[in-house]
Amino acid sequence: MSNVSIRNIDIRYHNVKVLEGLNLDIESGEFVVLLGPSGCGKSTLLNAIAGLTEVSNGQIWIGGRNVTWEEPSDRSIGMVFQSYALYPRLTVEGNLSFSLRMAGMPRDEIASRVTKAARILHLEPLLKRYPSALSGGQRQRVAIGRALVRDVGVFLFDEPLSNLDAKLRTELRVELKRLHQELGTTMIFVTHDQIEALTLADRIAVMHGGVIQQFDTPHEIYRNPRNRFVAEFVGSPTMNFLDGALKVRDDSITFTIPDGPTINMQDYPFRSRPMDGTPASLGVRPEQISLSQTTSGEKLNAVFNLLEPMGSDNLLWGRVAGTPFSARMSTDVVVPVNQATDVFVQPSQVSLFTSAGERL
Ligand code: ADP
Repeated sequence: MSNVSIRNIDIRYHNVKVLEGLNLDIESGEFVVLLGPSGCGKSTLLNAIAGLTEVSNGQIWIGGRNVTWEEPSDRSIGMVFQSYALYPRLTVEGNLSFSLRMAGMPRDEIASRVTKAARILHLEPLLKRYPSALSGGQRQRVAIGRALVRDVGVFLFDEPLSNLDAKLRTELRVELKRLHQELGTTMIFVTHDQIEALTLADRIAVMHGGVIQQFDTPHEIYRNPRNRFVAEFVGSPTMNFLDGALKVRDDSITFTIPDGPTINMQDYPFRSRPMDGTPASLGVRPEQISLSQTTSGEKLNAVFNLLEPMGSDNLLWGRVAGTPFSARMSTDVVVPVNQATDVFVQPSQVSLFTSAGERL
Protein backbone atom coordinates (compact mmCIF):
# COMPACT_ATOMS: atom_id res chain seq x y z
CA MET A 1 0.00 0.00 0.00
CA SER A 2 1.51 3.32 -1.04
CA ASN A 3 0.48 6.92 -1.35
CA VAL A 4 1.02 8.65 -4.68
CA SER A 5 1.91 12.29 -5.03
CA ILE A 6 1.99 14.11 -8.36
CA ARG A 7 3.83 17.37 -7.93
CA ASN A 8 3.51 20.10 -10.52
CA ILE A 9 4.08 17.90 -13.55
CA ASP A 10 4.24 19.05 -17.17
CA ILE A 11 3.98 16.56 -20.00
CA ARG A 12 4.54 17.49 -23.65
CA TYR A 13 4.15 15.53 -26.84
CA HIS A 14 6.22 17.18 -29.62
CA ASN A 15 6.13 20.54 -27.80
CA VAL A 16 2.35 20.42 -27.28
CA LYS A 17 1.62 20.58 -23.56
CA VAL A 18 -0.89 17.90 -22.58
CA LEU A 19 -0.56 18.35 -18.82
CA GLU A 20 0.67 21.54 -17.21
CA GLY A 21 1.48 22.12 -13.54
CA LEU A 22 -0.75 19.21 -12.51
CA ASN A 23 -0.93 18.27 -8.82
CA LEU A 24 -2.69 15.27 -7.28
CA ASP A 25 -2.30 13.65 -3.86
CA ILE A 26 -3.64 10.12 -3.48
CA GLU A 27 -3.72 8.59 -0.03
CA SER A 28 -2.46 5.15 0.84
CA GLY A 29 -5.23 2.58 0.26
CA GLU A 30 -7.44 4.97 -1.66
CA PHE A 31 -9.39 4.02 -4.81
CA VAL A 32 -9.07 7.03 -7.10
CA VAL A 33 -10.76 7.27 -10.49
CA LEU A 34 -9.47 9.60 -13.22
CA LEU A 35 -12.65 10.50 -15.12
CA GLY A 36 -13.07 12.58 -18.26
CA PRO A 37 -13.87 12.59 -21.96
CA SER A 38 -11.55 11.08 -24.55
CA GLY A 39 -8.38 13.13 -25.03
CA CYS A 40 -8.49 14.93 -21.65
CA GLY A 41 -5.15 13.45 -20.52
CA LYS A 42 -6.22 10.59 -18.20
CA SER A 43 -4.04 7.92 -19.81
CA THR A 44 -1.14 10.32 -20.07
CA LEU A 45 -1.32 10.91 -16.32
CA LEU A 46 -1.65 7.19 -15.56
CA ASN A 47 1.25 6.36 -17.89
CA ALA A 48 3.37 9.00 -16.18
CA ILE A 49 2.68 7.37 -12.79
CA ALA A 50 3.58 3.99 -14.34
CA GLY A 51 6.79 5.37 -15.83
CA LEU A 52 5.67 4.71 -19.42
CA THR A 53 5.59 8.43 -20.31
CA GLU A 54 8.37 10.85 -19.47
CA VAL A 55 7.54 14.02 -17.60
CA SER A 56 9.13 17.31 -18.76
CA ASN A 57 8.92 18.97 -15.34
CA GLY A 58 7.77 18.15 -11.83
CA GLN A 59 7.97 15.02 -9.70
CA ILE A 60 6.12 11.78 -9.04
CA TRP A 61 6.35 10.19 -5.59
CA ILE A 62 5.15 6.67 -4.78
CA GLY A 63 5.27 5.33 -1.24
CA GLY A 64 7.37 8.25 -0.05
CA ARG A 65 10.00 7.82 -2.79
CA ASN A 66 10.72 10.14 -5.68
CA VAL A 67 10.28 7.76 -8.65
CA THR A 68 10.22 10.43 -11.38
CA TRP A 69 13.21 8.92 -13.18
CA GLU A 70 12.82 5.28 -12.14
CA GLU A 71 12.03 2.44 -14.54
CA PRO A 72 8.41 1.13 -14.48
CA SER A 73 9.65 -2.17 -13.00
CA ASP A 74 11.19 -0.37 -10.00
CA ARG A 75 8.07 1.59 -9.02
CA SER A 76 6.13 -1.15 -7.19
CA ILE A 77 3.16 -0.75 -9.52
CA GLY A 78 0.96 -3.27 -11.34
CA MET A 79 -0.79 -2.14 -14.49
CA VAL A 80 -3.93 -3.59 -16.09
CA PHE A 81 -4.86 -2.46 -19.60
CA GLN A 82 -8.07 -2.49 -21.63
CA SER A 83 -6.50 -5.10 -23.93
CA TYR A 84 -5.69 -7.91 -21.58
CA ALA A 85 -2.24 -8.55 -23.15
CA LEU A 86 -2.07 -12.16 -21.92
CA TYR A 87 0.56 -14.57 -23.24
CA PRO A 88 -1.52 -16.76 -25.62
CA ARG A 89 0.83 -19.78 -25.38
CA LEU A 90 0.78 -19.89 -21.59
CA THR A 91 -2.02 -21.29 -19.44
CA VAL A 92 -3.74 -19.13 -16.85
CA GLU A 93 -1.30 -20.50 -14.28
CA GLY A 94 1.63 -19.73 -16.62
CA ASN A 95 0.38 -16.19 -17.17
CA LEU A 96 -0.05 -15.60 -13.45
CA SER A 97 3.39 -16.92 -12.54
CA PHE A 98 5.36 -15.50 -15.50
CA SER A 99 6.77 -12.33 -13.92
CA LEU A 100 7.60 -14.17 -10.68
CA ARG A 101 9.54 -16.87 -12.56
CA MET A 102 11.38 -14.15 -14.50
CA ALA A 103 12.30 -12.55 -11.19
CA GLY A 104 13.73 -15.88 -9.98
CA MET A 105 11.33 -16.31 -7.07
CA PRO A 106 11.45 -19.72 -5.30
CA ARG A 107 8.88 -22.24 -6.62
CA ASP A 108 6.88 -22.68 -3.44
CA GLU A 109 6.54 -18.93 -3.00
CA ILE A 110 5.29 -18.64 -6.61
CA ALA A 111 2.80 -21.49 -6.03
CA SER A 112 1.44 -19.90 -2.89
CA ARG A 113 1.00 -16.48 -4.54
CA VAL A 114 -0.68 -17.95 -7.62
CA THR A 115 -3.03 -20.01 -5.42
CA LYS A 116 -3.94 -16.95 -3.40
CA ALA A 117 -4.58 -14.75 -6.47
CA ALA A 118 -6.62 -17.54 -8.12
CA ARG A 119 -8.75 -17.85 -4.97
CA ILE A 120 -9.38 -14.11 -4.68
CA LEU A 121 -10.27 -13.78 -8.37
CA HIS A 122 -12.23 -17.07 -8.66
CA LEU A 123 -9.79 -18.44 -11.22
CA GLU A 124 -9.11 -21.82 -9.55
CA PRO A 125 -11.10 -23.94 -12.04
CA LEU A 126 -9.43 -22.16 -14.97
CA LEU A 127 -5.74 -22.50 -14.07
CA LYS A 128 -4.96 -25.10 -16.77
CA ARG A 129 -6.84 -23.30 -19.56
CA TYR A 130 -5.33 -21.16 -22.30
CA PRO A 131 -6.49 -17.54 -22.83
CA SER A 132 -8.27 -18.49 -26.09
CA ALA A 133 -10.62 -20.68 -24.04
CA LEU A 134 -11.62 -17.86 -21.66
CA SER A 135 -14.39 -15.25 -21.84
CA GLY A 136 -13.50 -11.54 -21.90
CA GLY A 137 -14.30 -11.19 -18.21
CA GLN A 138 -12.16 -14.21 -17.30
CA ARG A 139 -9.24 -12.86 -19.36
CA GLN A 140 -9.46 -9.55 -17.58
CA ARG A 141 -9.47 -11.33 -14.21
CA VAL A 142 -6.26 -13.12 -15.25
CA ALA A 143 -4.77 -9.75 -16.24
CA ILE A 144 -5.67 -8.40 -12.79
CA GLY A 145 -4.23 -11.58 -11.23
CA ARG A 146 -0.88 -10.96 -12.91
CA ALA A 147 -0.65 -7.63 -11.14
CA LEU A 148 -1.98 -9.15 -7.91
CA VAL A 149 0.71 -11.85 -7.56
CA ARG A 150 3.44 -9.23 -7.64
CA ASP A 151 2.33 -7.77 -4.34
CA VAL A 152 2.66 -4.19 -5.56
CA GLY A 153 1.99 -0.95 -3.68
CA VAL A 154 -0.28 0.56 -6.33
CA PHE A 155 -2.57 -0.91 -8.99
CA LEU A 156 -3.07 1.15 -12.15
CA PHE A 157 -6.07 0.35 -14.35
CA ASP A 158 -6.49 1.85 -17.84
CA GLU A 159 -10.15 1.37 -18.87
CA PRO A 160 -10.02 -2.32 -17.90
CA LEU A 161 -13.75 -2.90 -18.34
CA SER A 162 -14.29 -1.13 -21.66
CA ASN A 163 -13.99 -4.25 -23.83
CA LEU A 164 -16.63 -6.19 -21.91
CA ASP A 165 -20.35 -6.33 -22.58
CA ALA A 166 -22.68 -4.46 -20.23
CA LYS A 167 -23.54 -7.38 -17.95
CA LEU A 168 -19.94 -8.55 -17.52
CA ARG A 169 -18.80 -5.00 -16.98
CA THR A 170 -21.18 -4.63 -14.05
CA GLU A 171 -20.11 -8.00 -12.61
CA LEU A 172 -16.40 -7.24 -12.84
CA ARG A 173 -16.96 -3.75 -11.45
CA VAL A 174 -18.47 -5.27 -8.32
CA GLU A 175 -15.59 -7.78 -8.13
CA LEU A 176 -13.04 -4.99 -8.40
CA LYS A 177 -14.70 -3.13 -5.57
CA ARG A 178 -14.65 -6.30 -3.44
CA LEU A 179 -10.99 -6.81 -4.37
CA HIS A 180 -10.17 -3.33 -3.16
CA GLN A 181 -12.05 -3.91 0.09
CA GLU A 182 -10.20 -7.18 0.64
CA LEU A 183 -6.68 -5.99 -0.28
CA GLY A 184 -6.85 -2.33 0.73
CA THR A 185 -4.23 -1.57 -1.93
CA THR A 186 -4.04 1.89 -3.51
CA MET A 187 -5.83 1.78 -6.87
CA ILE A 188 -5.87 4.36 -9.67
CA PHE A 189 -8.44 3.68 -12.35
CA VAL A 190 -8.95 5.51 -15.65
CA THR A 191 -12.38 5.63 -17.28
CA HIS A 192 -14.67 7.86 -19.33
CA ASP A 193 -17.69 6.09 -17.79
CA GLN A 194 -19.22 8.15 -15.00
CA ILE A 195 -21.13 5.19 -13.55
CA GLU A 196 -17.86 3.27 -13.07
CA ALA A 197 -16.38 6.35 -11.43
CA LEU A 198 -19.30 6.96 -9.09
CA THR A 199 -19.60 3.31 -8.06
CA LEU A 200 -15.90 2.48 -7.57
CA ALA A 201 -14.13 5.58 -6.33
CA ASP A 202 -13.30 6.83 -2.87
CA ARG A 203 -12.45 10.03 -4.72
CA ILE A 204 -12.88 11.03 -8.38
CA ALA A 205 -10.56 13.40 -10.26
CA VAL A 206 -12.69 14.86 -13.06
CA MET A 207 -10.40 15.96 -15.91
CA HIS A 208 -10.99 18.23 -18.90
CA GLY A 209 -8.39 19.69 -21.26
CA GLY A 210 -5.50 18.33 -19.18
CA VAL A 211 -6.75 20.05 -16.01
CA ILE A 212 -8.28 18.45 -12.92
CA GLN A 213 -11.62 20.24 -12.58
CA GLN A 214 -12.58 18.74 -9.22
CA PHE A 215 -11.06 16.07 -6.94
CA ASP A 216 -13.66 14.93 -4.48
CA THR A 217 -15.86 12.10 -3.20
CA PRO A 218 -18.51 10.79 -5.61
CA HIS A 219 -21.17 12.34 -3.37
CA GLU A 220 -19.64 15.83 -3.55
CA ILE A 221 -18.93 15.56 -7.29
CA TYR A 222 -22.57 14.66 -7.88
CA ARG A 223 -24.24 16.95 -5.35
CA ASN A 224 -21.91 19.95 -5.43
CA PRO A 225 -20.20 20.06 -8.83
CA ARG A 226 -17.65 22.87 -8.75
CA ASN A 227 -18.29 23.99 -12.32
CA ARG A 228 -20.62 23.40 -15.20
CA PHE A 229 -18.29 20.95 -16.94
CA VAL A 230 -18.37 18.60 -13.93
CA ALA A 231 -22.13 19.12 -13.55
CA GLU A 232 -22.77 18.15 -17.17
CA PHE A 233 -20.27 15.31 -17.39
CA VAL A 234 -21.50 13.43 -14.33
CA GLY A 235 -25.12 12.29 -14.10
CA SER A 236 -27.45 10.65 -16.61
CA PRO A 237 -29.68 12.08 -18.01
CA THR A 238 -27.56 15.17 -17.69
CA MET A 239 -28.41 18.03 -15.33
CA ASN A 240 -31.04 20.50 -16.62
CA PHE A 241 -29.98 24.14 -16.93
CA LEU A 242 -32.34 27.12 -16.82
CA ASP A 243 -30.85 30.55 -17.58
CA GLY A 244 -31.85 33.64 -15.67
CA ALA A 245 -30.56 36.30 -13.30
CA LEU A 246 -30.24 36.80 -9.55
CA LYS A 247 -31.96 39.60 -7.71
CA VAL A 248 -30.18 40.36 -4.44
CA ARG A 249 -31.90 42.46 -1.76
CA ASP A 250 -31.08 42.97 1.93
CA ASP A 251 -33.63 40.40 2.99
CA SER A 252 -33.98 38.17 -0.06
CA ILE A 253 -32.20 36.49 -2.97
CA THR A 254 -34.32 35.34 -5.88
CA PHE A 255 -33.64 33.84 -9.30
CA THR A 256 -35.79 34.91 -12.22
CA ILE A 257 -36.13 32.87 -15.40
CA PRO A 258 -37.30 34.97 -18.39
CA ASP A 259 -40.82 33.82 -19.37
CA GLY A 260 -40.69 31.63 -16.28
CA PRO A 261 -41.03 31.76 -12.52
CA THR A 262 -39.10 33.67 -9.86
CA ILE A 263 -37.59 31.30 -7.34
CA ASN A 264 -36.71 32.11 -3.75
CA MET A 265 -33.01 31.13 -3.33
CA GLN A 266 -32.77 31.96 0.39
CA ASP A 267 -31.94 28.30 1.25
CA TYR A 268 -29.27 27.93 -1.44
CA PRO A 269 -25.74 27.50 0.03
CA PHE A 270 -24.04 30.38 -1.82
CA ARG A 271 -20.23 30.22 -1.63
CA SER A 272 -20.24 33.99 -1.27
CA ARG A 273 -22.93 36.63 -1.50
CA PRO A 274 -23.63 37.27 -5.21
CA MET A 275 -23.99 40.69 -6.80
CA ASP A 276 -27.44 41.91 -7.73
CA GLY A 277 -28.24 41.22 -11.38
CA THR A 278 -25.67 38.39 -11.79
CA PRO A 279 -26.64 36.27 -14.81
CA ALA A 280 -26.74 32.61 -13.78
CA SER A 281 -27.83 29.11 -14.75
CA LEU A 282 -29.93 27.06 -12.40
CA GLY A 283 -28.85 23.39 -12.51
CA VAL A 284 -31.49 20.84 -11.56
CA ARG A 285 -30.90 17.09 -11.67
CA PRO A 286 -33.77 15.07 -13.17
CA GLU A 287 -34.47 13.36 -9.83
CA GLN A 288 -34.60 16.69 -7.97
CA ILE A 289 -38.03 17.33 -9.50
CA SER A 290 -41.15 16.31 -7.68
CA LEU A 291 -44.85 16.62 -8.36
CA SER A 292 -45.78 17.15 -4.72
CA GLN A 293 -45.50 20.47 -2.95
CA THR A 294 -43.56 20.71 0.32
CA THR A 295 -43.07 23.78 2.49
CA SER A 296 -39.62 24.55 1.06
CA GLY A 297 -40.39 23.51 -2.55
CA GLU A 298 -40.33 26.16 -5.28
CA LYS A 299 -42.69 25.89 -8.21
CA LEU A 300 -41.72 25.51 -11.90
CA ASN A 301 -44.18 25.04 -14.70
CA ALA A 302 -43.37 22.11 -16.97
CA VAL A 303 -44.91 20.49 -20.01
CA PHE A 304 -43.87 16.86 -20.49
CA ASN A 305 -44.46 15.31 -23.89
CA LEU A 306 -42.67 11.96 -23.64
CA LEU A 307 -42.48 9.27 -21.01
CA GLU A 308 -39.72 6.63 -21.07
CA PRO A 309 -40.30 3.70 -18.72
CA MET A 310 -36.92 2.61 -17.30
CA GLY A 311 -38.25 -0.33 -15.30
CA SER A 312 -37.32 0.96 -11.85
CA ASP A 313 -38.56 4.49 -12.60
CA ASN A 314 -39.84 6.72 -15.44
CA LEU A 315 -37.99 9.42 -17.36
CA LEU A 316 -40.07 12.35 -18.53
CA TRP A 317 -38.97 14.66 -21.31
CA GLY A 318 -40.43 18.09 -22.03
CA ARG A 319 -39.80 21.79 -21.41
CA VAL A 320 -39.66 24.37 -18.65
CA ALA A 321 -39.88 28.05 -19.73
CA GLY A 322 -39.14 26.96 -23.31
CA THR A 323 -35.97 25.05 -22.35
CA PRO A 324 -35.64 21.26 -22.83
CA PHE A 325 -36.00 19.54 -19.47
CA SER A 326 -36.01 15.99 -18.11
CA ALA A 327 -37.34 14.54 -14.86
CA ARG A 328 -37.01 11.15 -13.18
CA MET A 329 -40.01 9.97 -11.20
CA SER A 330 -41.23 6.90 -9.43
CA THR A 331 -43.45 4.61 -11.50
CA ASP A 332 -46.15 5.15 -8.83
CA VAL A 333 -46.51 8.82 -9.81
CA VAL A 334 -49.04 9.56 -12.50
CA VAL A 335 -47.65 12.42 -14.62
CA PRO A 336 -49.91 14.35 -16.98
CA VAL A 337 -48.49 14.39 -20.53
CA ASN A 338 -48.87 17.29 -23.01
CA GLN A 339 -50.34 19.68 -20.47
CA ALA A 340 -48.99 22.36 -18.17
CA THR A 341 -47.92 20.74 -14.90
CA ASP A 342 -46.65 22.25 -11.67
CA VAL A 343 -43.39 20.63 -10.52
CA PHE A 344 -41.29 21.51 -7.47
CA VAL A 345 -37.57 21.84 -6.66
CA GLN A 346 -35.75 22.35 -3.37
CA PRO A 347 -33.44 25.41 -3.67
CA SER A 348 -31.13 23.90 -1.03
CA GLN A 349 -30.34 20.95 -3.38
CA VAL A 350 -29.88 22.57 -6.80
CA SER A 351 -26.73 24.14 -8.32
CA LEU A 352 -26.19 27.68 -9.58
CA PHE A 353 -23.44 28.60 -12.02
CA THR A 354 -22.12 31.91 -13.31
CA SER A 355 -22.12 32.53 -17.06
CA ALA A 356 -18.43 31.51 -16.97
CA GLY A 357 -19.54 28.15 -15.55
CA GLU A 358 -18.25 28.54 -11.96
CA ARG A 359 -20.42 27.42 -9.05
CA LEU A 360 -22.04 30.28 -7.15
P1 ADP B 1 -7.39 10.22 -22.55
O1 ADP B 1 -6.71 9.07 -21.89
O2 ADP B 1 -8.09 11.12 -21.58
O3 ADP B 1 -8.28 9.83 -23.69
P2 ADP B 1 -4.74 10.86 -23.50
O4 ADP B 1 -3.96 11.01 -22.27
O5 ADP B 1 -4.61 9.59 -24.27
O6 ADP B 1 -6.26 11.18 -23.19
O7 ADP B 1 -4.36 12.06 -24.50
C1 ADP B 1 -4.30 13.41 -24.09
C2 ADP B 1 -3.89 14.27 -25.28
O8 ADP B 1 -2.55 13.96 -25.66
C3 ADP B 1 -4.74 14.08 -26.52
O9 ADP B 1 -4.94 15.33 -27.11
C4 ADP B 1 -3.90 13.18 -27.39
O10 ADP B 1 -4.18 13.42 -28.74
C5 ADP B 1 -2.49 13.60 -27.02
N1 ADP B 1 -1.54 12.46 -27.12
C6 ADP B 1 -1.59 11.30 -26.44
N2 ADP B 1 -0.56 10.50 -26.74
C7 ADP B 1 0.17 11.16 -27.67
C8 ADP B 1 1.38 10.88 -28.39
N3 ADP B 1 2.04 9.74 -28.20
N4 ADP B 1 1.83 11.82 -29.25
C9 ADP B 1 1.18 12.98 -29.44
N5 ADP B 1 0.05 13.32 -28.78
C10 ADP B 1 -0.46 12.43 -27.92
